[in-house]
Amino acid sequence: MDALDIVANLQHVIPYYQAIFSADEHRVIGYEVLGRYESEGSVFSLGPFFHDETIPEEFRLEVDETVTKKALDYFLSNGDDSTFIFLNRDANLLMLDRAESFLKLLFQYEEKGLSLERIVLEINEQHFKGDFNQLGHLLTYIRTYGIRVALDNIGEHSSNLERISLLDPDILKIDLRELRKTSTNYSYQDVLYSLSLLARKIGATLLYEDIEAAFQLQYAWRNGGRYYQGYYLAEPFPHLLSPDFLKERLRQECHHFIQQEKKKLQTLYNISEQFQLRITSLLMKYKKTANFNELITCLSTELGDACFRIYICDEDGFQQSANIFRQNNEWKLQPEYCMKNWSWRPYFLENIIRMRSRKRGILSDLYADIETGETIRTYSYPIDERHYLFIDLSYSYLFEHDAHY
Ligand code: CA
Repeated sequence: MDALDIVANLQHVIPYYQAIFSADEHRVIGYEVLGRYESEGSVFSLGPFFHDETIPEEFRLEVDETVTKKALDYFLSNGDDSTFIFLNRDANLLMLDRAESFLKLLFQYEEKGLSLERIVLEINEQHFKGDFNQLGHLLTYIRTYGIRVALDNIGEHSSNLERISLLDPDILKIDLRELRKTSTNYSYQDVLYSLSLLARKIGATLLYEDIEAAFQLQYAWRNGGRYYQGYYLAEPFPHLLSPDFLKERLRQECHHFIQQEKKKLQTLYNISEQFQLRITSLLMKYKKTANFNELITCLSTELGDACFRIYICDEDGFQQSANIFRQNNEWKLQPEYCMKNWSWRPYFLENIIRMRSRKRGILSDLYADIETGETIRTYSYPIDERHYLFIDLSYSYLFEHDAHY
């Protein structure tokens, strides 16, 4: 499609609307407006046109404005007055006139009765070439009109966390296309996880987009996604949908996710309970050992099916024993670990306080072991008021007991 043909035939430029659904009500809460070109019965996406930087800016701005006007006319005319309207803008083009033309257009529609609080400005920050501080100031100014700001396409490339928090968006749109079922490497999931933590810290709502399969919707649900968008739910249409279009299906899928998650949490709880009983009775059995190294050596002979490392720390995280470490089916004491301090590790002191108050052991989340790189969990247990036992459970044990994901 030639860029000049598009600009010369604006009557063929039309908006499509892709519905966005909410997790809390399972309703359509908004639509992303997408540019399309209709020609001889076929409809083409204008995405490539908008992203092509060799096309003069004024062409792209004009086509963008045409799509936006037609969409806003449609929203005003069809009586829908509650859904969010997500409008895409290139950050570079927006900065050219400091959003003046964009805001002027919106003010015209505000006079016709459109509430600007319905507008969500979608910005793609990855290709932005200017000064991020200035873009941040501009977005803050735009927000004074009640317009929300969403950062688009987060996660597609490794996004810069500092930049995201500088722009302080209301919504983070996280792309799930890269999340594949067959992927055995967890690195993309880890990137998504850190983005979800960041969203929580800066108070941004998570919108997962490009959901194309049930497992991606489940991922979005499990990872703090309040809004969902993608072909699995609804493709872009030239018209709006009934707000309850997917309500029943989403309710059923969500029910299924809840059942699965509860089952998984119950499994972890059961494992933790089994260790609680097992360790309590082993400590009774070996209470006469002369020192901690002897104790962990005795424990290793009993726990070989489940773990590959055992050690003991005091309440400040100073290791009070050697490590006992299993390699090639042989247990070996590693005295060089004695008196190392582990208080800097995430959740370490928090877990000590929990164990001390509840007088019970704790099963950790999944994480990669620093030395072996293996995905593991640690079971920790309060021996007495001041000493804590740490048992690193092997991946094979977790896998066998369905506690590996
Ligand atoms: Ca977008």
